[in-house]
Amino acid sequence: MRPTRPHTFPTFSSPDEERTHIKQRMAAAFRLFDRFGFNEGVAGHLTGRDPERPDCFWVNPLGLSFGLIRASDLILVNHEGEVVEGDWPVNVAAFAIHSQIHAARPDVQAAAHTHSKAGRAWSTLGRLLDPLTQDSCAFYEDHGLFDDFTGVVIDTEEGKRIAHALGDAKAAILRNHGILTVGHTVDEAAWLYITMERTCEVQLLAEAAGEPHPIDPEMARLTRDQVGSHTAGWFSFQPLYDKIVADQPDLLD
Ligand SMILES: [Zn+2]
Repeated sequence: MRPTRPHTFPTFSSPDEERTHIKQRMAAAFRLFDRFGFNEGVAGHLTGRDPERPDCFWVNPLGLSFGLIRASDLILVNHEGEVVEGDWPVNVAAFAIHSQIHAARPDVQAAAHTHSKAGRAWSTLGRLLDPLTQDSCAFYEDHGLFDDFTGVVIDTEEGKRIAHALGDAKAAILRNHGILTVGHTVDEAAWLYITMERTCEVQLLAEAAGEPHPIDPEMARLTRDQVGSHTAGWFSFQPLYDKIVADQPDLLD
């Protein structure tokens, strides 16, 4: 279905309506992550906070391909890691990391993390991204580095340390692991993930080819405020959402 008018930020008349919206946006994000090749076995998760139960979040079922996820497949997990809606199990790492991020950041509706290739490659360098292009300025002085690796994240203490490295930023690089983004909307978190993965790829390409010239700090800050706002993040996701829903409408079910 083609959009017939300009996109406007959604409003909801009930928590049920908002919940359906969040789950459909999440399902669309998973289909896009699949399309962009972010699948790697059972790794990767996107969570969305429930509008009525802020200590619970919706997440993808462990073992179901991103490319098959429908809104109705998402499971609801509480702050103790118990599945309170849905029949599938939850990924232990998803709970350990995302529960601590949602607890530390009440402003955040959604958080995304996968083992996508460029983000994973960049993470091995243990460095923050530089403001090399207009798009990469979105992350300038607005992402953290978790400069440690202690195996698969299975306990919430490790999740707390990751949340601490994220701080009040929009993203984090987890050394030897990958990248993670958060957003005030599912749309923003998903968009930031897609563009951060590309940003990692661009910096890897540029540094492989030569010595890239970074944008100066003052201009990088100005550009960040232009391309890196919550509204810009939400808006950038809309054309991707329209296309994936047109191609794969069953994701809304
Ligand atoms: Zn991971």
